[in-house]
Amino acid sequence: MVSVLQEELIQNPNTMVNKAEIERKVDEILRNNEANSIPVDPVTLANRLGIKIHNAEFSDGSLSGMISKRGDNIMILVNRQDSDTRKRFTIAHELGHHFLHLMEEDGEFVDDTMNLFRQQLPDGEQRSSKRKEVEANKFAAALLMPKRLVKKEFERNNDLTYLAWRFGVSEASMGYRINELGLN
Ligand SMILES: [Zn+2]
Repeated sequence: MVSVLQEELIQNPNTMVNKAEIERKVDEILRNNEANSIPVDPVTLANRLGIKIHNAEFSDGSLSGMISKRGDNIMILVNRQDSDTRKRFTIAHELGHHFLHLMEEDGEFVDDTMNLFRQQLPDGEQRSSKRKEVEANKFAAALLMPKRLVKKEFERNNDLTYLAWRFGVSEASMGYRINELGLN
């Protein structure tokens, strides 16, 4: 059987999103930070890493968050008007940029609603520039809904509303994750 990862590799090696690698990385981060209970708290994790988080008033209302790194000075801003659930996802997404895209270099990512809901790569020229956004979303989903813990909880109670509440995510995110993990 050809895995999803292999299929992506065959289709387009240059713009591949390496899901297995992201899952492995998140697993390692959760273990290193003893974040084994749910809901996973991305704020606590960020603080342990020395990353400051601020609620911000964005002049552009479509913005959800951003991360900026200048040497050891790393800061995440989240839209103060968003719901707590939404803020958790935004912070997890920005942590994805931190671990996947800003380890070796300074820089920043500014995220609007489109970026945060992007699950699939678009066709055409935007494809490679949006790869990092898809990766950050995969990271966020894996961080807030760790594979092992979702499987365990799903066996106890597979109600979507319950699971979304238990993990502190939206029902849409949880539904997507359950599908992705092949639980239903
Ligand atoms: Zn992003």
